[in-house]
Amino acid sequence: MEASPLCPRCREPFQKGSLLEVKVHICSQCEGLLVKQGVLLTLIERLIESIDFQGHGNQKRSNSGEFHSVERCPLCESKMESFGYMGDDSATISQCIMCYETWIENGRIIDMASMLYRSKRIIEKNNSALEKFKSQAVKIDSDNYFVAGFLLGLIVGGE
Ligand SMILES: [Zn+2]
Ligand SMILES: [Zn+2]
Repeated sequence: MEASPLCPRCREPFQKGSLLEVKVHICSQCEGLLVKQGVLLTLIERLIESIDFQGHGNQKRSNSGEFHSVERCPLCESKMESFGYMGDDSATISQCIMCYETWIENGRIIDMASMLYRSKRIIEKNNSALEKFKSQAVKIDSDNYFVAGFLLGLIVGGE
């Protein structure tokens, strides 16, 4: 029997499940996620559809903090590379160079959805003034949003 992969932060066994019908491994302690690179955008787009970002707009995230990079893939133990999602270091993720599993720390998937939501909305709102809006978005993106237990609430199925 295959040993269950462990969360690189908590050393808890990951739970397998699906988040908005995208297969993930999730840590029930820290809500860290492992998602395949190929479905990450799908997941983020589904999160955008599910979250009322305007409604949550003024809530600060209480658990955002320093990013902890992960050196070794929890699934295949190959090297992982870390980079900022959309070039933003406040949403750093680690990706396995072999199996493309992507480690996303607690709640950062929400930040990533927020970033993509904002950039899409900005483009829709005013294409011609995109450059001007981009410089404003940098300030807006430094706000973090806290959606307590949101990820765990969306998990269905599992093993
Ligand atoms: Zn964990
Ligand atoms: Zn891997």
